[in-house]
Amino acid sequence: MACTADVAGRGAVLLGEGVVADSFWPRPYRVVTHAHSDHTMGLSRSVRESLFIIATPTTFRFLEILGQKVPEAKRLELPYDRRIALEDEVLELKIARHIAGSSQVLVECRGGVVGYTGDFKMPGTPPMQGLDVLVIDATYGSPRLQRRWGEWDALAALVSLIEDNISRGPVWVYGYNGKLQEVMVELRRRGVTYPFIADEKTVKLARVAAEFYGYQLDDVRVYTGREHGESVVLFMHASRSRGKRRLPGTHIVLTGWELRAPAARVADNVYNVSFSDHATFREIVEYVREASPRMVVVDAYRGKDAWFTARYLERVLGIRSFARPVVGGGAGG
Ligand SMILES: [Zn+2]
Repeated sequence: MACTADVAGRGAVLLGEGVVADSFWPRPYRVVTHAHSDHTMGLSRSVRESLFIIATPTTFRFLEILGQKVPEAKRLELPYDRRIALEDEVLELKIARHIAGSSQVLVECRGGVVGYTGDFKMPGTPPMQGLDVLVIDATYGSPRLQRRWGEWDALAALVSLIEDNISRGPVWVYGYNGKLQEVMVELRRRGVTYPFIADEKTVKLARVAAEFYGYQLDDVRVYTGREHGESVVLFMHASRSRGKRRLPGTHIVLTGWELRAPAARVADNVYNVSFSDHATFREIVEYVREASPRMVVVDAYRGKDAWFTARYLERVLGIRSFARPVVGGGAGG
């Protein structure tokens, strides 16, 4: 068997012969690159059918808080840059900048080496070099999805919105797990000292993320519902943005799909801030150029316009590229 990699149905990233990442597949070793739900699919089935679940210590702590149970006997906690032998293959997790604990996966198999980026953004994700096959996340897989500003601009816009509106009541910030905690740290680093309040899971994740980032976040209080008249910043999971929007204050949704400006007003007291934890299209190309693998597989299960990414990489970088799995719609075009 050649040492190869692919994205199969249901988003299972197959690496070498024995490893699968980020969805269920009948293989002995299941990697979870990070705790987002589109990367923990089929985890309970993997717990039943695979030998080991492999993730960084931070990712295991996140999973626990989010109610994803992995029994002790099945856990293989692997810190970054530590090689581990799995029968005929050697596996290593490399850092990916996305959320606390996120990893890339490197597998040396018979006759080659393959890798998977998991979700990532640049800079801060060192490209894995010398690969035979690179599987890459391409959430924003074409120039039409390109944000035309850096995340520093988005953070600056967020700080201004908080400062301009907080005297009138709470500022609500909605985002995904991991992104909220990263933004809390970045706001504190930029001198935002207003009290931080969050729902219970977000607070627990913040404690874990604070350790990961090496930054104190132990002053985040749990939301009680009595803070609606205070000058505080309230952090809530993205799924709660609709339900809470009618409450007093200013509501800010963190979303990389806002492409008009770093901050855009969408209703009277509702704004989008264009902050993402995924590489822009240009950053995806930059990663592949630096990594310079022999072949690229673009994850079309999670990414948008993956077929375009593959074609672009082939034309511009001259690297053989495929969008996988092949699905209906744009994939064939
Ligand atoms: Zn993610």
